[in-house]
Amino acid sequence: VAATLALSLAACGQDSEGGSETERDPEAEGGTVGIAMPTRSSERWIADGENMVAQFEEAGYETDLQYGEDQIENQISQIENMIAQGVDLLVIAAIDGASLGNVLQQAADADIPVVAYDRLLMDTENVDCYASFDNERVGALQGQYIVDSLGLAEGGDEAYNIELFAGSPDDNNTRYFFQGAMGVLQPFLDDGQLTVRSGATELNAVTTERWSGPEAQERMDDLLTAEYRSERLDAVLSPYDGISLGIIAALKNVGYGTADQPLPVVTGQDAELASVQSIIAGEQTQTVFKDMRELAAQAVAMGDALLGGEECEANDTESYDNGVKVVPAFLLDPVSIDAENYQLLVDGGFYTEEQLG
Ligand code: BGC
Repeated sequence: VAATLALSLAACGQDSEGGSETERDPEAEGGTVGIAMPTRSSERWIADGENMVAQFEEAGYETDLQYGEDQIENQISQIENMIAQGVDLLVIAAIDGASLGNVLQQAADADIPVVAYDRLLMDTENVDCYASFDNERVGALQGQYIVDSLGLAEGGDEAYNIELFAGSPDDNNTRYFFQGAMGVLQPFLDDGQLTVRSGATELNAVTTERWSGPEAQERMDDLLTAEYRSERLDAVLSPYDGISLGIIAALKNVGYGTADQPLPVVTGQDAELASVQSIIAGEQTQTVFKDMRELAAQAVAMGDALLGGEECEANDTESYDNGVKVVPAFLLDPVSIDAENYQLLVDGGFYTEEQLG
């Protein structure tokens, strides 16, 4: 692998020296991009890293890809090393969005532009632009999926039980996902068609540290014991596939998943392979697909602009205030996936038929 990488880096170098047709800023040519990703424990970030390495190299850059493995200290020292090695650009998906202030100041002192990748960098001036998906829309797709699956309508008289799960409290996306979902669900909580038996309806009561599936499974175990011994649970708002699978494991442990006691509607996010397989098997109900190839392309476009001394292209200059400034964002469209339309993932070249079995 190392040899192949060295070869492709060498090839990139030759290409960029010989390339005369493109009008890119010579400073950008052959520059190095430090890519700091949060964890390899979830497939999506592995794909993000791979896509960015491929696309940045294709565009004539060298790359240094590092994973913090959900340890904030790791991520900080990885970024410090990148700065010390003189990278020209940083692309960062933070583990904890508010923990990188000092190291981002070091980047600014060294004139290294910074792209926040998928997760906003908080409480700092030293972030130039933000590439992500429409995070509120992700939540709205999850909430709407629950409403549609249960057949809820304004003025209706349905009565279902739901429990709510949210993502990691230190990830700025978490509140956007939750707000998006609650925007759709709240009217049905208010009119009594949906009931949260645990009473946990506020974001800070339902977060899941580091998006941990096992932690979600434990919380679901506790909820089932406390609230659902004699009541049926009909729906679970889950923000992320790893959490969804933890929730489903807890549900199956107490007997859900049979003809007599079908699983509740369970949402998700990222279209991770295990979850798409679970959807096909009739367990998880929905996920939200976010095409990481497009996100990587956006990061490359932003990097090109910044290194060329230009502003990033943004399609949202209002929504993402990081506490110090509003960061110009380019937000891509998420897509809801279920058993009816998962074929889109194959048609789009994201998975092969074989992978989906
Ligand atoms: C990302 C989601 C992902 C979650 C857990 C969020 O910041 O936007 O796509 O599911 O992190 O990794």
